Amino acid sequence: MRLALALSVAFAPLLSACDNAHHGDALPAAADQGGKADGAVGVEILGMLGPQAPVDATLPNKTARLGHVVWATAGSTIDLEVTRTGSAAKLDTVLHVWGPRDGQGRYAELIASDDDAGYGALSKLGGLTIEQDGFYLVEVTAGGKAPADLTNKAFRLALHCDGNCIASGPVVPAGLELRWVERSAEYRALALSSYAAATARIEQLAADGALPQHWAVVTDLDETVLSNLQYQRERAELGTEYSSSTWTAWVARREATLVPGAKAFLDRVHALGGTIAAVTNRKTIECADTEANLQALAVPFDLLLCRTGTSDKNPRFDAVQDGSADPQVPAAEVVLYVGDNIQDFPQLSQDLRHEGDEAFADFGGRFVLLPNPMYGSWTSN
Ligand SMILES: [Mg+2]
Repeated sequence: MRLALALSVAFAPLLSACDNAHHGDALPAAADQGGKADGAVGVEILGMLGPQAPVDATLPNKTARLGHVVWATAGSTIDLEVTRTGSAAKLDTVLHVWGPRDGQGRYAELIASDDDAGYGALSKLGGLTIEQDGFYLVEVTAGGKAPADLTNKAFRLALHCDGNCIASGPVVPAGLELRWVERSAEYRALALSSYAAATARIEQLAADGALPQHWAVVTDLDETVLSNLQYQRERAELGTEYSSSTWTAWVARREATLVPGAKAFLDRVHALGGTIAAVTNRKTIECADTEANLQALAVPFDLLLCRTGTSDKNPRFDAVQDGSADPQVPAAEVVLYVGDNIQDFPQLSQDLRHEGDEAFADFGGRFVLLPNPMYGSWTSN
C-alpha cells in the first residue's frame, strides 16, 4: 500500500503529461520511502543544464549516477533526452528527474523517470510539466541492459523548455568563507604576511650562516601554493561540495592559480640554494596534471610527492630528509614547513587545539600557516 501510494505521487506529473515513457524501471529507493528520504543522495552533480545547450558527460561505470541541475518556473513544459548524437553506441541509460530542491538542499521527490523511450536503449522524457518554481536535478545512470563492465561511456543530455528554464547558478549564494577568500583584503594580507614571515625566516638563517649544506623547504600545494577557489566556487554554486571525481576533473583542467606570495617565496628559496619539496595529497593519477599546472605558473620545485598509499604526510617528510624520495635529489634537512592544514606539519593533528599555547611555538618560526576557511581536517572537529 505504501509503495503504491509512493508510486502514484512520484509519477503524477509524468502520467498526466507524458505517454511515451517506460514507467517503473529501476525505481530508486526514495519512491519506496514515500519520497521522505532524498533518493537523489548519491547523484554526482556535474553542472547546470539549459535549453539549447546540451551537456556532454561520461558514465565511468554502471553504478554511477550523474546529475545536472535546471531551474524552471511553474507551468514550464520540459523535454529531456539522452541523444543518439554524442552518446556512445549501444549505451543503455535511465533518466530520473528529482525536485524541486528544498530548503535543506534535498531533491527529495522523484517526479519523472524513463528507461528506453529514446533512440535504442537511450532515454527520453517528453512533455513534463513543472508544477513549482525551483531547481530540478536531472539524473542519468546506466540502464538494466548496460553491460556490467561498462566503463567511460559518453552521453549527451539535451533539454527543450517551453516556458522559462535557466541554465545558470548559483543554486545557493556563495558562503562567507568563499567570499572572504575571494574578495577580502584580509585574506590577501594574511597570505602575504605568512610568506613574508617564511621569507624572513630563511633569509635570517642564511645571514646567520645557519643553513646546512643541503636544506629544504617542504610545502603543501592546495590553498598553500595553488588556489582552487574556482573549483570551490563552481561546487558551491551548484549547491554541492567537494567530490573525488569532480576534483580529479578540476585538476585535469590545470586552472589552479597562485596563492598570493607563494611564488616569490619559492623563488627566494631557490635563489638561496634550497631544495623545494612539494608534499601534496593530490593523488598519483593527478600528479602529472599538477606538475603541468605548477610549470604553467612558473612555480619552482625539486620534488613533487603526491599521495600514494596514505594521506599521512610524515613518511614523505622523512623521505625528503633521508634522501629516499628521489635518487636525483640529495637528503636535505627541512628548515621550514608551509601549509594550510595542521596535518601539513610533522606529527601534528587537530589534537593540537587542546594543547597550551606553548605547543604552537613553532608557528611563525619553522612552521608557516596559510588561512583556509573553506575546507581542511578542521571541518570534522
Ligand atoms: Mg592544502
